[in-house]
Amino acid sequence: MNQLSCGLDLVSLAGEWLTATANTNMFTYEIAPVFILMEHVVLQRMRELIGWPGGAGDSILAPGGSISNLYAFLAARHKMFPDYKQRGTTAVRGQLVMFTSDQCHYSVKSCAAVCGLGTDNCVEVPSDARGRMRVDELERLVLERKARGHVPFFVVATAGTTVLGSFDPIEQMADVCRRHGLWLHVDAAWGGGLLFSRRYRHPRLTGIERADSVTWNPHKLMGALLQCSTIHFKEDGLLISCNQMSAEYLFMQDKLYDVRYDTGDKVIQCGRHNDVFKLWLQWRAKGTEGFEQLMDRLMELTAHLVRRIKAQPDKFYLLLEPEMVNVSFWYVPTRLRGMPHGREREQQLGQITPLLKGRMMESGTLMVGYQPLDDRPNFFRNIISSAAVTESDLDFMLAEMDRLGHDL
Ligand SMILES: *Cc1c(COP(=O)(O)O)cnc(C)c1O
Repeated sequence: MNQLSCGLDLVSLAGEWLTATANTNMFTYEIAPVFILMEHVVLQRMRELIGWPGGAGDSILAPGGSISNLYAFLAARHKMFPDYKQRGTTAVRGQLVMFTSDQCHYSVKSCAAVCGLGTDNCVEVPSDARGRMRVDELERLVLERKARGHVPFFVVATAGTTVLGSFDPIEQMADVCRRHGLWLHVDAAWGGGLLFSRRYRHPRLTGIERADSVTWNPHKLMGALLQCSTIHFKEDGLLISCNQMSAEYLFMQDKLYDVRYDTGDKVIQCGRHNDVFKLWLQWRAKGTEGFEQLMDRLMELTAHLVRRIKAQPDKFYLLLEPEMVNVSFWYVPTRLRGMPHGREREQQLGQITPLLKGRMMESGTLMVGYQPLDDRPNFFRNIISSAAVTESDLDFMLAEMDRLGHDL
């Protein structure tokens, strides 16, 4: 319940073992031909699920969603300023600015720090009470920066925020991006798995096909073993032109096969780990329907937890109706049960939250993550992303929190 990547998928584990046994490197076709072809098939299928006709576009597996987001940033900058690769900052007249919501994953802000913008130029757009970006504020802030002579170029929508599991309004953000000529990246590292679900995909991910790039981590909701993260681009050819360095000892152009299968020059790494086989094998075992059933099951379990929390209003306080498998709530110990809910009680609940987490860890029976958010003091964020979780586990969790925490 503690982390976004939970549980153990046995087929994916088998894939990881075979991967370790083969111990090959994904940079050239000549040393990993079958695995390279698996990447092609799997990534194309993922682009189809995103909604790009025929799975058109290009993708790569990256070491985690944070690096996937970095690839999107680099491609967006390269698209707008193709000379940047050679000439560096002198290729850009004016200060580059990017936009994301105040609920974004911290790796988005880190792009601004790592790539020379500075975090002051990663504008955090305010979100509404449900944690979704306010699109009116996005447009206002873009105009404000333009008026200062800055150069907006990159907008990040989060599909499944890390804390609340909220979904930014992609469709409306795409409209703003079109009006101002900005690149739209969707960080669906967490929520991407719901693309499999006909039931839950809309309205959460509606409009994702309008994005220029999408981050999607199979090692989160889909249960692939760590690590397995993908970054997808609508436009083919950008990754290679952005990152290619043409090392003559690795990427010779006169090999006997089609050198487009040498994917190593699309990335800023040299050697690349085989993260695809475990996902390919898992997908073969489950089928697309199996992944859909898994997504629907995780969402059903979440609904069960929400019902159980609401059925015990004296002991638990739900912060908001979840859009995903993140369930945000406070545990209320006996002494605070008679107190009306307000600022004062929230402060006290915020203090007992880490104490209860400490008791969970000492008793060794369970772990649930917690954090403060904006003006809300520490609250629990329960995650259901393991296929092994059952309704009775969730009932146990609530009962166990009460057993460990009632006297706090
Ligand atoms: C987890 C997460 C990331 C980072 O992914 P890593 O694989 O941990 O680097 C990025 N964005 C969102 C929304 C996430 O939830």
